[in-house]
Amino acid sequence: MYKIPIITLFAILLLPILSETADSQAVSHQQISPIPPNMYVTTVESEVNPSFSIYESNEIEEFENWARDNGITIVGVNKDQHHLYNYGYDPKTDHVNWKEIPRVLVAADALYKVPKNVIKVMDGKTIYFSTEHGRSYTVFGKPMPADSTFLKGVDRGLILEQNINQKNVLHELGHIVDYHGIQGRFYDKQHIFDHLLEDRISIFNVTQKYQPNSGALSAGYISVYSTKSDLENFAENFAYYIVRPNEFREKIQTDTLLTEKYEFMRDKIFLGFEY
Ligand SMILES: [Zn+2]
Repeated sequence: MYKIPIITLFAILLLPILSETADSQAVSHQQISPIPPNMYVTTVESEVNPSFSIYESNEIEEFENWARDNGITIVGVNKDQHHLYNYGYDPKTDHVNWKEIPRVLVAADALYKVPKNVIKVMDGKTIYFSTEHGRSYTVFGKPMPADSTFLKGVDRGLILEQNINQKNVLHELGHIVDYHGIQGRFYDKQHIFDHLLEDRISIFNVTQKYQPNSGALSAGYISVYSTKSDLENFAENFAYYIVRPNEFREKIQTDTLLTEKYEFMRDKIFLGFEY
């Protein structure tokens, strides 16, 4: 069973742990000191597990090429996020062939849906596929101080635990789009969406109290979890825009507050593209 992570904090803020569903949770860490250079270089294996069918091998190779083309490093790990956050990543003991990890292609199918202009936020980042069961997480920053093991050797990006599902993958990507793409946090400003900051702050501002067990949802919110914070509000709307587009459009028929969130995604993030 999943264990609640005990997380050491060097950050100025620990974002809330989410619990919309048993397998939908994110921990985000902020830190304020400069980000040191990578402490190691990870390589992606070229061989494919012979147990994969030819069809799967092709799919794996396609994903490998897609990641390379987008500047994304893929790493397989046999540790959960709790271990990676607290003790860091040691390639000698924690590394496994990502091509042998279950549901990698589920994440691939989710990420393929994201247009080029948006996936650019992942340039230079890493996706950690874990063999362990848990949830999905976003790694925003890098470890510090230097003698700490907290996130040591872990790059910014995503940690995806089992069972991987598309909604969780895209929710976490939404955090990257928001934090790095729009807000330019952690010295990672790529100036992709920084012109959207003002709209982002006003449109995704959460004014409702988070009541995870109430079941009731106020106008303007796509899910109960989206009322947890501005950050989760953005990530939820981002994920819904891609994986539940019909449900999203259905809801905005009678919800003008939600309409402005949909239109922000459509016009500002996805440049007019709808699913
Ligand atoms: Zn989240």
